[in-house]
Amino acid sequence: MDRVDAIVIGAGVIGLAVGRALARRGLETIVLERENAIGTGTSSRNSEVIHAGIYYPRGSLKARLCVQGRQLLYAYCAEHSVTARRCGKLIVATSDAQRPKLEATRAAAAGNGVELQALDAQAAQALEPALQCVAALLSPETGIVDSHALMLALQGDLEAAGGALALCSPALALHCDADGHVVEVGGAAPMALGARIVVNAAGLWAPGLAARTAGLAPGHVPQARHAKGNYFSLSGRAPFSHLIYPVPEAAGLGVHLTLDLAGQARFGPDVQWLPPGPPDAIDYRVDPARGESFYAEIRRYWPALPDGALQPAYSGVRPKLGGPEAAAADFVLQGPAEHGLAGLVNLFGIESPGLTSSLAIADEVLRRLGMDAGSAA
Ligand SMILES: Cc1cc2nc3c(=O)[nH]c(=O)nc-3n(C[C@H](O)[C@H](O)[C@H](O)COP(=O)(O)OP(=O)(O)OC[C@H]3O[C@@H](n4cnc5c(N)ncnc54)[C@H](O)[C@@H]3O)c2cc1C
Repeated sequence: MDRVDAIVIGAGVIGLAVGRALARRGLETIVLERENAIGTGTSSRNSEVIHAGIYYPRGSLKARLCVQGRQLLYAYCAEHSVTARRCGKLIVATSDAQRPKLEATRAAAAGNGVELQALDAQAAQALEPALQCVAALLSPETGIVDSHALMLALQGDLEAAGGALALCSPALALHCDADGHVVEVGGAAPMALGARIVVNAAGLWAPGLAARTAGLAPGHVPQARHAKGNYFSLSGRAPFSHLIYPVPEAAGLGVHLTLDLAGQARFGPDVQWLPPGPPDAIDYRVDPARGESFYAEIRRYWPALPDGALQPAYSGVRPKLGGPEAAAADFVLQGPAEHGLAGLVNLFGIESPGLTSSLAIADEVLRRLGMDAGSAA
């Protein structure tokens, strides 16, 4: 049986960031990916927003890793010629009834060390003349990033540090042996691969893989739920240069406007809970009928949205750890201290702001493995 130092399962932005960090610590590292390309999962089905770290409960992993990850990400993009732009975002209250939510958002952000500027309607409209609101918050640190260029840069770093990416290589199951862990790898040439360290960064598939990890107590395998987020794109140019978000809603951030790096606008994601089921059964098609509710929501802050301007675009699916009735869960990083299996880290519930947090999550994984993460970024 072949052995390496470390195996990372999944080549989304998280697995690539973790693989890069391990390889840069001098560990012989392989990233296994079941598809024939990197980043075909949630990492290419999101808003590509670099979040400031506004909404997450103080002291949560999401709050800490988003703020750290955002700083690391801007620096990384600058160093690696990955396009990222601090375009800023406006969070808008469209009625007086929403003012308390805006104030609560500002307080939550301050608790996370994120400064937001309060704007009255006039000041907000001076920035964005097409906007209708009664008050707004400006987040200057929010930006956008070319997520695929980011993943390619991470892959480049992984390989430059001696690591390898194995495509079309699904991890089927894990068990322990005297030297560490053994991963059963499927694909065209099935094999068993041994390693002292295994990181499960399989995104939507991570809980299923954990359930196929011999020796992991069932209590450490979360109940996965899926919340689909649908996007509609705008035909024609949007009259906005900032990202525009309504005040947050349950399970998501409201139907917001984000811009890609070419200035093209899209709206969403909304929140559509899917029935419990395996990730392979997810239907990513966007139902055009959902567009109707988008018009109503968007026109609260952009009344001039023309009829017929929205086209179904794409969708992504949030790896939730509870159903619609549950409180929003934090990221879950389970290392040896949590489950008792040396060298194994399982990553669950890495929904937004996972892209923003990716480099900080990689550092945190190293810490959970007892390594000093300091120089990995
Ligand atoms: C609608 C939506 C919008 C979002 N917007 C933002 C945003 O604007 N900003 C932000 O910071 N975050 C955002 N996120 C969150 C962000 O996209 C995710 O946190 C991040 O992409 C998760 O990356 P990942 O590597 O964990 O998962 P994935 O990208 O899904 O990668 C997992 C990989 O594992 C592979 N895999 C699965 N099983 C196996 C196996 N058994 N063997 C080998 N490989 C396997 C998959 O093929 C996949 O490539 C958003 C998420 C959603 C759903």
